Amino acid sequence: MCLQQSRTCQCGRHTAHLNFYDNILSPAILVALYCPECRRQAVWNEDCMVEDCGWIMEYDLEGARFLLRQRGVTAEVTPAFLFDEGYLSWQGFTPHDLEVNAALHRRLEPLSREDLPRYLKTLKEEWLAYVASLKAAGWRKAQRA
Ligand SMILES: [Zn+2]
Repeated sequence: MCLQQSRTCQCGRHTAHLNFYDNILSPAILVALYCPECRRQAVWNEDCMVEDCGWIMEYDLEGARFLLRQRGVTAEVTPAFLFDEGYLSWQGFTPHDLEVNAALHRRLEPLSREDLPRYLKTLKEEWLAYVASLKAAGWRKAQRA
């Protein structure tokens, strides 16, 4: 079970759902979160920041290194490592996958009562099409899907 929580970006207009692989890092390691609308407030620093489709995550790298080393992770800890390995990144492929997934299920719910096999097939097809669109848009986590 991975710790999950949501975080509002610096300007307060958007919320991202976060996931913490193996529960090693804590929410405090994410020093700041910038959405595409408030990213200009960030002073870009590749030593502690990672960018994903206009969003910027700023990490407490020293804190992350300490916590990961305590748990036996010996790899070089960089912002890209924290993000791409899922130690502190989106829940799903983007900041808002949770809502997208919930909306998809809500939309197809009537079909589930009419025709379950077709519902399951449609659900799978639509989700795969969604993931393909994220991949095309350049979302980092979707590139590995
Ligand atoms: Zn914002």
